[in-house]
Amino acid sequence: MKVLKFGGTSVGTAARMKDVAQLINDGTQKLIVLSAMSGTTNGLIEISDYFYKNNQAGALERVNMLEQKYDAIIDELYSSEDSKKEAKKQLSANFDLIRSHSKSVFTLFEEKAILAQGELISTAMFQLYLKEQGINSVHLPALDFMRIDKNAEPDTLFIAENLNKLLTASPDAEMYITQGFICRNFYGEIDNLQRGGSDYTASLVGAAIKSEEIQIWTDINGIHNNDPRYVENTKPVPVLHFEEAAELAYFGAKILHPTCILPAKLSNIPVRLLNTMEPTAPGTLISTTSKKGKIESVAAKDNITAIKIKSGRMLLAYGFLRKIFEIFESHHTSIDMITTSEVGVSVTIDNTKNLDNILNDLKKFGMVTVDRNMVIICVVGDLPFENVGFQAKVIGALKQIPIRMISYGGSNYNISFLIRAEDKKEALNALSRALFD
Ligand code: ASP
Ligand code: MG
Repeated sequence: MKVLKFGGTSVGTAARMKDVAQLINDGTQKLIVLSAMSGTTNGLIEISDYFYKNNQAGALERVNMLEQKYDAIIDELYSSEDSKKEAKKQLSANFDLIRSHSKSVFTLFEEKAILAQGELISTAMFQLYLKEQGINSVHLPALDFMRIDKNAEPDTLFIAENLNKLLTASPDAEMYITQGFICRNFYGEIDNLQRGGSDYTASLVGAAIKSEEIQIWTDINGIHNNDPRYVENTKPVPVLHFEEAAELAYFGAKILHPTCILPAKLSNIPVRLLNTMEPTAPGTLISTTSKKGKIESVAAKDNITAIKIKSGRMLLAYGFLRKIFEIFESHHTSIDMITTSEVGVSVTIDNTKNLDNILNDLKKFGMVTVDRNMVIICVVGDLPFENVGFQAKVIGALKQIPIRMISYGGSNYNISFLIRAEDKKEALNALSRALFD
């Protein structure tokens, strides 16, 4: 059975919901994971913010606005008066629950219960629509099987056991519907998998039921071979290896939540990225196969700070790098890129919250220089070192660009460069011309 996840924009209006219902209604059994309708989670966060600030009137006004928006969607989505009435009754319960928090103390616990309403509403509405269309679907309440442990990591055994129990209870359903994003924590409280977490739900659900394929439906045709905001005529990449996709996810391919594909990868389940607006487009298939020796895509990560520590003490010494890394660790700052020489080391960070303290400590070990406003350019593909010549090709494309750091050898799937932000657009375009034209 395939798992299909539809994101907030894919179910963002009544018309879109109808499209999704049509798209999935092909007679094969499937498990559908839905996000909240777009804008809803943000709206719920805003409501919570008013509650935190003890502005009950502000919160209630915002709740009314959201409920009105949903009333309009209900009117458009359903054709029969009975369905409209039923939807309004169901949603009133959700909105009343949100409103009830105006009478209690407001903490993170209450906020999480409020945030869960977005997905609870979208799935209830969608199921009711399917029912009106004569499609039989079974609700799998995410709060009954999706659980995180004490470290906020998914409890995969619990998830698999309880989800499969629910599936066995209704084996003949055409369709199963569940909520993305929401879960319970170790204490049984309502919690979530962090913003954008519905992809993660899909991946966990897919792994739990040993699905044949996980489909992530969004509003673009898969992962592109370069950033369409800076480069014209970018194209979707048809096939990517899990490792290639993971690199791109970190480097800002917004389409995929970085941690999301891990459960799929561990269970070796292919992940297909598809476009709700263009359902027949092939999208991107992420699996354990890659195209031999091929450079697939280029991505950039902004707001990078490079720090160089130069010291005669590093020469032939052991333990120098450990001391340097410990400083970053003690200031809770992770390092992205590293390059070394006999007398120094350069590292990059993207979180500069503790930069001043880091620099103070580093100065005990050597000369420290900082380059701000840099960008990591990451070239991704099937790039083992036996693939002779790809480094030359990539560096050749960048021959006009000042390059501050070069990093290859950490994985067989990427080579990265650190350049100045002002050179980013030129670098991305030069790479597209040299690698993909
Ligand atoms: N609704 C949640 C969010 O907006 C989860 C998701 O859409 O993936 O973050
Ligand atoms: Mg989303």
